[in-house]
Amino acid sequence: MIIEIDKNSGFCFGVVEAIRKAEETLQQQDVLYCLGDIVHNDAEVKRLTRKGLITIDHERYLTMKDTTVLLRAHGEPPSTYEYARQNNIRLIDATCPVVLKLQQRIRKGHELTKSNNAQFIIFGKKGHAEVNGLVGQTNGKAIVLESTEEIDKVDFTRPIELYSQTTKDLEGFHLLADELKRRAINVPLKIHDTVCRQVANRIPAIRKFSARFGLIIFVSGQKSSNGKMLFDICQSVNHNSKFISSIEEIDIQWIKDVDSVGICGATSTPKNLLEEVAEGLSRYFCFEWAEMLK
Ligand code: SF4
Repeated sequence: MIIEIDKNSGFCFGVVEAIRKAEETLQQQDVLYCLGDIVHNDAEVKRLTRKGLITIDHERYLTMKDTTVLLRAHGEPPSTYEYARQNNIRLIDATCPVVLKLQQRIRKGHELTKSNNAQFIIFGKKGHAEVNGLVGQTNGKAIVLESTEEIDKVDFTRPIELYSQTTKDLEGFHLLADELKRRAINVPLKIHDTVCRQVANRIPAIRKFSARFGLIIFVSGQKSSNGKMLFDICQSVNHNSKFISSIEEIDIQWIKDVDSVGICGATSTPKNLLEEVAEGLSRYFCFEWAEMLK
């Protein structure tokens, strides 16, 4: 039996840096509030909770004052910073530098195009924390499109500026961009490819990886956007792909008739969780082998 972990899977640098900042702060204080899950992975959130990280939602944040709050890699809209300023909240800003740069681009672009009434479009998931942060840079005016099917929401009488949530797939982004090009005949259209290559570069790699095994076990939190997207790619290449969030979800029936298992995950999946799955499978096969030799 071959069991292999995809070497390209595991945390991206944005998540690594956010966790580093959380752990560094928790060495100086017992408790640190984090606005939203620091990473879309329950096992990692639980590990940090044991160290003193407390996850809060926006509702709770807006009742707080005189404390310290960590902003995760997804970033936040300007209103979150404004509330902190007014309520003596020290922010540990772990917004990923890639997201931060994107927020600045959108904010600047929105200010510069006020005179021509340009329409800002974000290709992304409605309600996703990063998307909320991006829409916030336009005072809530940007529209969010999840796919080309929603293109009728676009006003084709105004100039258009298209951006993407960093973790969306490039293919979907290009489909939307092409459809906008086709329809925006008499208005200026600017396409800003802002898909993060930490995710985009994993797509060809995960395609190749998935094709090599009898079974793919994809490990990710349910809430991870890029987890869902990368898993869909695994499934399109290898129909025998299974999504799990923890090792307990593995069904032994899956591995009865396969001779190789590939283990991979999202940018929010800790490497140690992938290793735990690989070790669990190895132990199972060793036991089976020993039983057969009896
Ligand atoms: S996926 Fe890219 S943009 Fe998002 S946190 Fe990771 S490095 Fe940053």
